Amino acid sequence: MGLPTAYRPVYSTPAPRTSKQRLSKLAAACVLLLLALANSPAAPGALEDAAWWLKSKRPLPSEPRERALALLETSPVIDGHIDLPILARAFFRNQVDEIDLDGAVRGHVDIPRLREGRVGGFFWSTYIMCPEDAGYPLDNDGNFTTPTHRVRDTIEQIDVARQLIDKHSDTFELTLTAKDWKRAIKKGKIGGMLGVEGGHQLGSSLSSLRAYYALGARYVTLTHTCHNALADSCGMQGTPITPRWGGLSPFGRVAVKEMNRLGMIVDLSHTAPSTASDALSLSLAPPIFSHSNARGVHAAVRNVPDSILRRIGRIGNEGREKVDLSKDGERGLGWGNDTNEAEKDIPSGDSLIMLNFSPDFISEWGEEGTRANISSLADHADYIGKLAGRQHVGIGSDYDGIGKTPVGLEDASKYPDLLAELIRRGWSDEEVRGVAGSNLFRVLQKVEKVARSQREVKPFTDIFEGRDDMKRRDHF
Ligand SMILES: [Zn+2]
Repeated sequence: MGLPTAYRPVYSTPAPRTSKQRLSKLAAACVLLLLALANSPAAPGALEDAAWWLKSKRPLPSEPRERALALLETSPVIDGHIDLPILARAFFRNQVDEIDLDGAVRGHVDIPRLREGRVGGFFWSTYIMCPEDAGYPLDNDGNFTTPTHRVRDTIEQIDVARQLIDKHSDTFELTLTAKDWKRAIKKGKIGGMLGVEGGHQLGSSLSSLRAYYALGARYVTLTHTCHNALADSCGMQGTPITPRWGGLSPFGRVAVKEMNRLGMIVDLSHTAPSTASDALSLSLAPPIFSHSNARGVHAAVRNVPDSILRRIGRIGNEGREKVDLSKDGERGLGWGNDTNEAEKDIPSGDSLIMLNFSPDFISEWGEEGTRANISSLADHADYIGKLAGRQHVGIGSDYDGIGKTPVGLEDASKYPDLLAELIRRGWSDEEVRGVAGSNLFRVLQKVEKVARSQREVKPFTDIFEGRDDMKRRDHF
């Protein structure tokens, strides 16, 4: 469809040749028109129309990849989970001098590829492995009080992330609020916050939680692959894990409240469904799943069950139909159908599932290797969109934290190809912008709003019940 003639000058269509005299007459007429618009009380709707006219931009290209790139100009990718700091630890002993992100760094992420992928920022994951992963027995039979180096190591990961941001301060910026992050993007920077990937990294202490916040952490994943003082984990695929708390522990419930008070996002990736359920019911601010997919598409323990997806995006019980989870896509693996899980409320009514690029969480492996590709990951987006709503989908690639990548999503330069696939599948421009980054900003702003509403609430000083070193006063 052609554009109305009157709008043509906005779209860089060459103006017909005119004499100097005609141009100046036109300019004078334009000035008069603008003055009239500014001074006269406009008819209702007229100014809105004018605003629409001023805001209108070049029509977006119809070719999906071109369109994705055009959308990313104003809504760049915000990735919920990138593991660059653990790569720095594992391969460079955190020696920042040896890591040049302006060049090609081993792994999936460096500045040229982030720029090519139209990235406006990401959460720098500060991850330290669980005790069990390192071959330790479960701390004190699950009392989680055995001293470890994990708080020290987490601080080292926070430090290396911040050093990398400082080293490349012409590109990166540590942005501590949604507003700062948007401002950084406008300046052409790649913004970012830190994320702590596991409650075990708190050393069973809320002081660590507050200290991490002060250092720039804006989410804590309640568990990694092990249970901890806060909550139960979903464990690892193929390794059954016996529940310890049956969801959030009493201490974990306080931790969620403290995160709400601070303005820290509650991250539910890696948690047991029972933990996710408890946190959704308790948290006043929307939690996220910073790097997870849908169990209904691929039955991996790390993926989000239908019962949880059914709760997200719903506010209140009005007009809700009973959900029969056995009819959903989990092929008999449904969880929560017997507990009316899908009917429970969540105070914030919001959450975000950020798509994980690990082939293990996308699809089955064939004899020839991974079958995961852009299309099979987009199946997860469609599925989550169907059950929870498309405004509850984001991106949390797990780049630099995964050994293998899907075909077509090999590194941080490839995000536009995923968004192009969603466009091909009929996702609207607004929905695609949401997946890229604006859904995350919506959640982040809500988390900040909840924190502002709790300014009068004092810090929670609860001590984990399993500790015996602070049981009584006058004890050194
Ligand atoms: Zn992870």
